[in-house]
Amino acid sequence: MNDDRSWTEIDLGNYQHNIEQLKKFFSPQTNFMQIVKADAYGHGAFQIAKKAIECGAVSLGVANLQEGILLRYQGISIPIIILSPSLNSEIDQILQYDLIPTVSSMDFARAMNKKGKNKIHLNIDTGMGRSGFYYQNALSKIKEIRRLTNLEIEGIFSHFASAENDIAFTELQADRFHKIVSKLDEKPKYIHIANSSGVIFSPDNYTNLVRLGLLTYGIYSNKPLKDKIKLKPVMTFKTRITQIKTAQKGDSIGYNQTFIAPKTIKYAILPVGYADGYDFLLSNKGIAVLRNSICKVIGKVSMDMTALDISQISDPQVGDVVTMLGDSHDDITAENLTDLFGGLSYELVSQIGRRAKRYYTQNGKIIDSSPLLRREFMPKDLSDKKLGDIIETAIEQRLQSKEIASLVHEDILKRMFAEKDKDIHYRKNFKHSIKFEDSNEFTDYYLTSTELSFSKKLQNDHFIVACAKTEKDLEKYFLRNDVEYRWLLDNKIDLKKMFFSVTSVKINDLELYNEMKISDGSIEIKCYHPKLKELMGKEVNFSISTKTYYPKNSHQLSVYIIEMTQGVDISFESNIVNIEAVPIFSGKSKFPKLVKTDHQISISTAKNEWVFPTSGVVFVY
Ligand SMILES: *Cc1c(COP(=O)(O)O)cnc(C)c1O
Repeated sequence: MNDDRSWTEIDLGNYQHNIEQLKKFFSPQTNFMQIVKADAYGHGAFQIAKKAIECGAVSLGVANLQEGILLRYQGISIPIIILSPSLNSEIDQILQYDLIPTVSSMDFARAMNKKGKNKIHLNIDTGMGRSGFYYQNALSKIKEIRRLTNLEIEGIFSHFASAENDIAFTELQADRFHKIVSKLDEKPKYIHIANSSGVIFSPDNYTNLVRLGLLTYGIYSNKPLKDKIKLKPVMTFKTRITQIKTAQKGDSIGYNQTFIAPKTIKYAILPVGYADGYDFLLSNKGIAVLRNSICKVIGKVSMDMTALDISQISDPQVGDVVTMLGDSHDDITAENLTDLFGGLSYELVSQIGRRAKRYYTQNGKIIDSSPLLRREFMPKDLSDKKLGDIIETAIEQRLQSKEIASLVHEDILKRMFAEKDKDIHYRKNFKHSIKFEDSNEFTDYYLTSTELSFSKKLQNDHFIVACAKTEKDLEKYFLRNDVEYRWLLDNKIDLKKMFFSVTSVKINDLELYNEMKISDGSIEIKCYHPKLKELMGKEVNFSISTKTYYPKNSHQLSVYIIEMTQGVDISFESNIVNIEAVPIFSGKSKFPKLVKTDHQISISTAKNEWVFPTSGVVFVY
């Protein structure tokens, strides 16, 4: 159980259920675009996007450039359509990140055409009265756009204004759209009009893509829908009681005394308010669930706190979990809560949990999480300001290369904010020692022993030690987060156990089993133990010792730091007389402490000092 003050749970299993139900309403030839704008209506765009792809989505819909970039940055590679009109100034980045803009004006179409080849979707306003080409002159506009030869019209679409409750108007829109589409001699690949409610209320046979939003999140857009489809809410918002109090008859509760206790009551102070997205209009109206019992919000919802009448609960405790919205009780679904104040469920879910960590679950198990700050990261911030300056200057000075500096910089931010495992993983107390000794068997080589230790949160019940003969073969192991140690073997020696082996691998004091697999230019050693399951998620000490051979004529050996690391100590020992160490460090300090004795050089930072990835030391001998 977490110890958060409030949190949202996103049930990806329920999302999948909703997709399966919705699919029954459109033909198997029809594709679907998952709408993930506004961070997937507050559900987490990246996680929803991944699940949607698994469920067969052919594309994703976002509101704007920044949302698209973020998904690209997180590694999403399927087509992403920007649904709102983009600005001309955004075109370069639209191209750079391979996003598909919606075209709603000639001016934008021309500007886009000037910049180079790209796919677009044309937006036709058939009655929504928002963005798009007005339906009455759409055909002539389409003709004009066809002449802009850099633009490939991949899709043409329109948007319903009231698919959930006005069938006549919906049909009128569908009809206007159909008339335009039927007059095109060359049909775009995708023709689409229906949002998720439209899929249910306006089945048609001339479109081939639907854009699914609200209903996939398990929120009904309309009561009659409940008889047609069974959806399950994806988001649950929970909090904990922080204080329990008693009010005497006549006592007032909250700002402006809008609630006066009619008798003695027991009430709870919850640490969430409108700043957490719990709508102010739920003041004196909201309800929440404590121990399966519905309790009433009393007084005004304030910025950070809300009072809940819990008189009927016997023996409530500080720390008890209260569900504010979601799955557990029909009365607190987004649509029923917003009904209480005439609000909009779309708005409520996209606001709620603004100060809460998100937990993604499937079959009741937490499979991922994302803290708040991470969600608000925008890659636009990438190129700017403090962090950028610190890192780039640090590395630039060392490497004398702007390009590499900016690559490293991006890499660091990616690791910190956008990688698929949403918690920041980093190493602490990193110690790496390498020792050369003369070898009797192979006189051209040093017998090399390495010892690596660090502490880190254990992510899996196993990990890999990898060794390869070329940088290219080793490269793939840098991208994998289940690899804890990598070694580049001299090109002239064979990939054999006698040339590279682990002599000991431990997690805390537990000696692990290891299994060697040699293939395709690399050695992979899997380190595992059944007991590791119990340690997952906990911070543990890794220690990995290896034995290998290193060519005397190489004259240099590099040690890299490739993860965020706090506290580094790298040492090199041998009986070679002339050794130099060149540390290339990025982080707050570029100049780690260097201590040299007759046979040893060590490079170290303070224990709590951060060292950024791609730092390292080159030992020259
Ligand atoms: C938001 C949006 C949708 C999704 O609508 P839902 O009602 O949430 O299904 C579809 N198309 C466009 C253009 C949108 O902006």
